[in-house]
Amino acid sequence: MATRRLYYDDAFQTEFTARVMHCEVLPPDLHAGITGTAWGLILDRTAFYPTSGGQPHDLGKIEEANILDVRDEGDDIIHVVDRKASDPEVKGCINWLRRFDHMQQHTGQHLLSAMFQERFGRPTVSFHLGTEVCTIDLRGPEPTAEVLEGAERAGNQIVFENRPVTVRYGTAEQLSGLGVRKEVDREGILRAIEIESADLQPCGGTHVKSTGQIGMILVRRCAKIRQDWRVEFVCGGRAERAARHDFQLVRETAEKLSCGTEEVVPAASRALAERDANYKKIRMLLERLANAEAGLALQSAAAGLDGLRVISRVFEDVPSEYLGFFGTAITKTEKSVVLLGLAGAGDLLFAQHPSSGRYMNSLLKGVLEKCVGKGGGTRDFARGKLVESTQMEKALTLAREKLSGAWT
Ligand SMILES: [Zn+2]
Repeated sequence: MATRRLYYDDAFQTEFTARVMHCEVLPPDLHAGITGTAWGLILDRTAFYPTSGGQPHDLGKIEEANILDVRDEGDDIIHVVDRKASDPEVKGCINWLRRFDHMQQHTGQHLLSAMFQERFGRPTVSFHLGTEVCTIDLRGPEPTAEVLEGAERAGNQIVFENRPVTVRYGTAEQLSGLGVRKEVDREGILRAIEIESADLQPCGGTHVKSTGQIGMILVRRCAKIRQDWRVEFVCGGRAERAARHDFQLVRETAEKLSCGTEEVVPAASRALAERDANYKKIRMLLERLANAEAGLALQSAAAGLDGLRVISRVFEDVPSEYLGFFGTAITKTEKSVVLLGLAGAGDLLFAQHPSSGRYMNSLLKGVLEKCVGKGGGTRDFARGKLVESTQMEKALTLAREKLSGAWT
C-alpha cells in the first residue's frame, strides 16, 4: 500500500497521526551523515516531505524519534529515524520553520523561472534549494543585469498582488491544454501548481497558498556553469536576512573608511589610489636608500687578491626587493660581487659585475647543496630562498669561501 502524502493536499499541516506499516534497522549511511543505528519507518500516511524535485526533506519528530532523513522510494516514503517505533499508532510533528522556508524558496522559484521564461525567453533547466541560497540554471545567452533585475522586479510585482497559488490535477493532456509548458510523459493523474495568470507547472513539492507568502524575491549572483547560467536567489526570510547582512557589511566598511554608507565606493577608490601612490613613493625611496648604502659599502670594501671587491651583508626588516636595489647598485661597479641575505625570510641574492668572471648560478647551487633551499639564475645574477633562515650566516660564509677558492 502506498504512503498517503498529506502534504499534497495541505502543505500547512504540521502534525498528523498515522499507523506504522513497517519498521526495520537500516545500515549506517555515511553519505547521508547517518553514523549511528537508524530505523526506516513506513507509515500509512505522512506530512513529511521527502527529498525530491530540488527540495530537501523535512525534519521533525515521530513520537520521541528524530527524523534524520526522508526518502521517496517508489510509492513509499521512508522516514529515517534515530529510534524504533514502539506503538502501532504514532504522532508526527514537522519542523515548521524549515518547511515554511522551503515553501517560500520553492514557490519563489516557480515564479522567478516563469518570469525568466515569459519575459526573456530563458528556460530553467534545473533548480537547487540549498541551505543558504537557491539556484536555477538558465539556458541561452548570458543574462544581462537588465534581464536579472527585470525578472526579479516582475516576480516581486506578482508577490505584491498576492495572487492565489493552487494545486491542479489532470492527465498530461489536460494539463497541456491548460497551458503547462513542460513536456510530461508520465501516465495517469498528475499534480500541477498554478500561480494565477502567471504559471502552471507539474510539481510534487510543497508551496505557499498565495504569492504574498513568498515574501520577496532577491536575485543575487549569476555565473556560467558549463553551457548554462546559474542564477543565485533567495526568497522570504532569507531575502530579509541577506538584505540585513549586506547592509551590515556596507555599514562596517563605511566605519572603517570613516564615511557615510552612500560614500563607500568613492571612499574605497580614494583609499586604493592613495595606497598605490604610497607604494610607488616607498619603492622610489627604497631605491634611493639602497643606492646610498651601496655607495658607502663600496667605499669601505677593500679589493681582494685578484682585485675583486666582495660585499656580503645580511639585511633585516626591509622588503625583499631592497636586496635587488642594493645588488644592482653595487654591481654597476667593475670587479664587484654582492652576497646578500634577508634575515627571517631566508632570501638570498648573489650578483656580480660581468667583469668579475665568476658564476653566480653555480655559486648559489653549491651553497644550496649544503644549506637546504631552492633558487637559480644566470651567470651574473642569482636568487634563492633558504628553507631555514637560521642557516643564513652559514650560507653566506660558504659563498665567501667558495669565491676565495678555499672551498670547491
Ligand atoms: Zn514546486
